Amino acid sequence: MSVTVYPWHASAWAEILARKSQLPHALLFKGRLGIGKLDFVRKLAQSLACENPETNGAACEACQSCRWFFASAHPDYREIQPEALRPAVDAAPASSERKPSQHIAVDEVRELQNFINLSAHNHHGRTVVICPAEALNVSAANALLKNLEEPPPGLRFMLITHKPSQLPATIISRCQQVALPTPSLSIAEQWLTEQGVAEPGLALAQASNAPLTARTIADDEFWGQRKLFLGAIAQSAVDGLGAAEQVKDIPVSRVLGWLQRWTYDLVCIKSGGAVRFNPDFSMVLARIATPLRAVEILRLHRTLLGWQRVVHHPLNTRLFIEDLLLSYCRLLKSTEHGASHVG
Ligand SMILES: [Zn+2]
Repeated sequence: MSVTVYPWHASAWAEILARKSQLPHALLFKGRLGIGKLDFVRKLAQSLACENPETNGAACEACQSCRWFFASAHPDYREIQPEALRPAVDAAPASSERKPSQHIAVDEVRELQNFINLSAHNHHGRTVVICPAEALNVSAANALLKNLEEPPPGLRFMLITHKPSQLPATIISRCQQVALPTPSLSIAEQWLTEQGVAEPGLALAQASNAPLTARTIADDEFWGQRKLFLGAIAQSAVDGLGAAEQVKDIPVSRVLGWLQRWTYDLVCIKSGGAVRFNPDFSMVLARIATPLRAVEILRLHRTLLGWQRVVHHPLNTRLFIEDLLLSYCRLLKSTEHGASHVG
């Protein structure tokens, strides 16, 4: 696969190429989800392995090593990701009852040992990428730590994270950190327009300004489902069970995310700010927010954040969506006037 360094990473790219020959054996790339950290790291690994790099240090895109990268088959390169994030070709068959794992297990780190014991194909060394590093479970992190403490010669680690606070301090302290920036709104909008995204501003608002996430969600199905769901909860009298029936075919994590952003916007309005995620519904949100108590909106918003932990493995997705919508209906009934009998 051919990867790109995005325009908003141009200066970080020039900086790291300039010190290409002095990079430490462990780097930790951090930055928001959906800004292109993995593509940056892939390009860096390709440039480090390139047999005939450009004068600025970037990969030539033509040598045997670069061609191996295009084919995702470089013998000196390994990428470790949770099963749930791997391309479908590696994932469990669709018929499997088991949900793909969101974690990196210790076996996957131990399997690296075979790779580590091999000598590199050429003198440019080998690269192991772990993305996202916060997906390492405790024993996997401990297994990795041994390699970070006593790095095998010629082996470098590139860890990627969008949640550095969830990484063990022992891992962080072994790595040199590289912060990758989120683009400004105007640069992100311009890039999305070039990618053929019709409403870049709205897509970015949905994606917390992360352009790659915005590009992924900017398909017709996403917008159709969002319109259906927000249309249901924008009614002046929401029928929780009826709305759950309407949206029963939408992935539950999507529904939870939309409701979280909806309550976030309601809180923004109550505190005198502008809506952040759903500017196309700002009039509706203002109408809904007016009679509500901020403390009750906040309470529901926090509950929804807590549900994020179980959303990937709910026991019963239908009941989960019904619970979500009934909680929202209770919020709508907890108006300023009805406050005396609420919590
Ligand atoms: Zn090359």
